[in-house]
Amino acid sequence: MFTPFTTWNQFITFMENIDKIHDEECWPWKGEVDDDGYGVYQRGKRLPEKVHELSWELFGGTIPTELVISQTCGNKLCANPKHLQAIINKEEENDYMEKPV
Ligand SMILES: [Zn+2]
Repeated sequence: MFTPFTTWNQFITFMENIDKIHDEECWPWKGEVDDDGYGVYQRGKRLPEKVHELSWELFGGTIPTELVISQTCGNKLCANPKHLQAIINKEEENDYMEKPV
């Protein structure tokens, strides 16, 4: 089975919710979106997970420890593996710091 999915149904539902127009362009997620504006997908009984991270795992492999996956195109709904990169978790820390309590 395709990592990170454990059943065909999970994989097919996931792919059906991605709008793949062109290989090079953004692949907007059509499913659920979280409070931060990221696409989320629920695998079975797990908590909803970020779509671009699942896409990274599906197309790119594992997420290195201490790194986060981010979209190079700036589109939070984009799931195109060509628009994804693994970066040090610095930006998220900054985002967190800037948020009002
Ligand atoms: Zn994109």
